[in-house]
Amino acid sequence: MADKKTILIAGGVGFIGSNLALRLLSEGNEVIVVDNLITGSLANLKILEKQKDFKFIRHDIIKPLGGAAVKFQIDQIYNCACPASPVDFAKYPMEIIWVNILGVKNLLELARFKKARFLQTSTSEVYGEPLEHPQRESYRGNVSTTGPRGCYDESKRLAETLMINYQKKFNLITRVARIFNTYGARMRANDGRVIPNFVNQALKHQPITVYGDGSQTRSFCYIDDLVEGLIKLMNSKYQNGPINLGNPDEHTILELAGKIIELTNSESKIIHKDLPQDDPSKRRPDISLAQKVLKWSPKVSLEEGLSKTIEYFRAAF
Ligand code: UDP
Repeated sequence: MADKKTILIAGGVGFIGSNLALRLLSEGNEVIVVDNLITGSLANLKILEKQKDFKFIRHDIIKPLGGAAVKFQIDQIYNCACPASPVDFAKYPMEIIWVNILGVKNLLELARFKKARFLQTSTSEVYGEPLEHPQRESYRGNVSTTGPRGCYDESKRLAETLMINYQKKFNLITRVARIFNTYGARMRANDGRVIPNFVNQALKHQPITVYGDGSQTRSFCYIDDLVEGLIKLMNSKYQNGPINLGNPDEHTILELAGKIIELTNSESKIIHKDLPQDDPSKRRPDISLAQKVLKWSPKVSLEEGLSKTIEYFRAAF
């Protein structure tokens, strides 16, 4: 293949990283995954290890990459390394802070050394509890430094600052994707996020746990659409800052629960639990920038994506 690349994915055993790795491998690239397996699933690693042109390095990017990764030529680096479920924020606050600061610094230094392009996966959490709706890239956010999401939100914000400053100071080619809620195959069943929770509860006919009254909204993007957007962004010429990637199709959490019960034919009943502190009341991406500069927009409807996700979790039982 003429334009075969060597691509390093940090956090490539996790949900987004493993889906991205499989897609890049299927296009004939060589993929090196670096992961410390803190939240990545061994089932994902098993699938990856069966692929040709795949290498795995077990390493925590909080420490410089040296040795193993440095001996390879690397054309592109995607950073998907960071526990990302709100349940993880309470469990791994220090790991999250350091991976987004020291880990990003170490990858940026590797990118400088290898003259590689670097894409950072940022997050809609940089907008916090948004006072603008939908959220455009120009919105500066409403984040609590000390709340339960602060470890994730603030360190992801600082990672964006690192990216832009390395680009300016060292002429590094950097890209930043602000990823909104994404779901699909290869999520952990016990991930704690809403879609794996609801689907697994519905498949077991257990109560569906809606936090609060369920009027809060999210906009859900299917993983294949997101992966397409990440690859387009990595290879695009656009370098004027972060780009939102997500699906603007917005639903309340109560509507989502109803849809999942219907699609699984479940006998589950909805129950309500306390709304976690600082849970954003609404979230929807404005994706006009991605549509314009990447010619990207999501294609998979919520029904179609949920059906595929249900099949995935059913098979994993
Ligand atoms: N949620 C819920 N029940 C669950 C898990 C999550 O009602 O079992 C709600 C949560 O309070 C939030 C939304 O679903 O309003 C999305 O939560 P998730 O953890 O998936 O991600 P977030 O968008 O909050 O980072």
